[in-house]
Amino acid sequence: MYKAPLQDRYRRRLNYLRVSVTDRCNLRCVYCVPRETIPRMSHLEILRYEEILRIIRIGVSLGITKIRITGGEPLVRKDLLPFLEQLTHLEGLTDIALTTNGVLLQDYLKPLQAAGIKRLNISLDSLRRDRFAELTGSDHFDRVWAAIEAAHGMGFNPIKLNVVAMRDINDDEFHDIAALTRTLPYHVRFIEYMPMGNPNLPGDPYMSNDEVRQRLEQTDILEPVPRSGNDGPAQRFRYPGAPGEVGFISPLSHHFCDSCNRLRPTAGGKLRTCLL
Ligand code: SAM
Repeated sequence: MYKAPLQDRYRRRLNYLRVSVTDRCNLRCVYCVPRETIPRMSHLEILRYEEILRIIRIGVSLGITKIRITGGEPLVRKDLLPFLEQLTHLEGLTDIALTTNGVLLQDYLKPLQAAGIKRLNISLDSLRRDRFAELTGSDHFDRVWAAIEAAHGMGFNPIKLNVVAMRDINDDEFHDIAALTRTLPYHVRFIEYMPMGNPNLPGDPYMSNDEVRQRLEQTDILEPVPRSGNDGPAQRFRYPGAPGEVGFISPLSHHFCDSCNRLRPTAGGKLRTCLL
């Protein structure tokens, strides 16, 4: 049966679901929504996988083609793999990706690949073990880095590294992080810090991605990568001849609300139109 494609009242075509499968997380990132402000959901409140799949199927029948599985930390939810397998067998989806903090990723890589997941976004705000521990509350840098290298070795592509850009917190590492893309096909994505009311952060860490880019371009030019139809809100660049990319997601300085194509079903079955 033909159904009109999803379109909101601003005439934006919605074709992308970011599906949170859990509100739980095994890290306590300093910039993330403070745990104390959101009561933990009980198991009964969290959607069952069948319910999530039903929402996705309905979405697909209305024109959803892209899915990102997120959380919380999706890999902490039990029985994620059979769910992903069912998801990758759904007709009509052209793009299924997983966003993870990478702590549990290494053990999941083989089954994720077997389930048909190819695209990974891994959050990584520092290449320094001590700073990683300070920012996330856990000394797991080595595990996350090992998982990234293993994912690369197994052919996951693209591997996107999400970096929240924060003044006086990790801004001295931007060059080093971006430089990964000179020799590896990683897509580093600098994300502007969004204030979530976190009292654990000193001062105001916000810095615009224009500033991040200017700083990177002090040492080398970044060439724009031609946009493709499947691009999200990232502005994409690459160092000349580099195998990887440097991207900028700038929700505050260049908000992309007019071209937003996404909906966010929460782990508890609510539908958010916007992260904020
Ligand atoms: N646990 C998974 C992870 O760490 O990637 C998925 C959930 S996490 C909330 C999704 C993304 O949101 C991460 O890349 C994280 O860095 C980003 N994020 C969380 N809080 C943010 C903030 N205040 N400003 C900008 N990005 C934020």
